[in-house]
Amino acid sequence: MKFGFDIDDTLIDLRGYAFQLYNQKLNQNVSLDVLQTINTLEIHKVFGLTGEEGGKLWNSLADEIYYSGCPIFEGALDMLQELDREGHEIFYITARKKEHSERTKQWLIKHGFPFREDHFYCGMKDQEKIEIILDLQLDYYFDDKPAVLETLLEIPTKVYAKDNPYNQKLKVPRLKDWSELKDILAQ
Ligand SMILES: [Mg+2]
Repeated sequence: MKFGFDIDDTLIDLRGYAFQLYNQKLNQNVSLDVLQTINTLEIHKVFGLTGEEGGKLWNSLADEIYYSGCPIFEGALDMLQELDREGHEIFYITARKKEHSERTKQWLIKHGFPFREDHFYCGMKDQEKIEIILDLQLDYYFDDKPAVLETLLEIPTKVYAKDNPYNQKLKVPRLKDWSELKDILAQ
């Protein structure tokens, strides 16, 4: 089967990692519990930043957020490696800007994610992901972002939300933990 994955906040805890970096860089000590109460993808408000300030901070820290020590969600890597061993195809479809394409590939390879050059799509706008997903005829696709998931509600691909505080309103199947994928596939 063909499996497609968003990367940020689907396979890796980018938002949680950025939250910690914001605390460090801004010399603040906002509790990690607060993160679970923010129902937007963006996290700048709890640090007292405007949207513009938050955007600037994110862009200035992008390299560090993406490539320094962002943790992989528990079980995600094992699950993808297992799917690969079983002969399934693994695709990555990320909205990261094109300029991050090469380093993102290298990051995936370095961390042991199954990787093929022609199975990697970078720089995808929210509305573009659906075209790729349909073209590839993916059996399963996983993402966290409401603006993306909303475009995927009526396609043949089985779409799952990686459960996050900011995507609770969406009525889509979801997984909280990557260990749940085994059960999903067994259904
Ligand atoms: Mg994402």
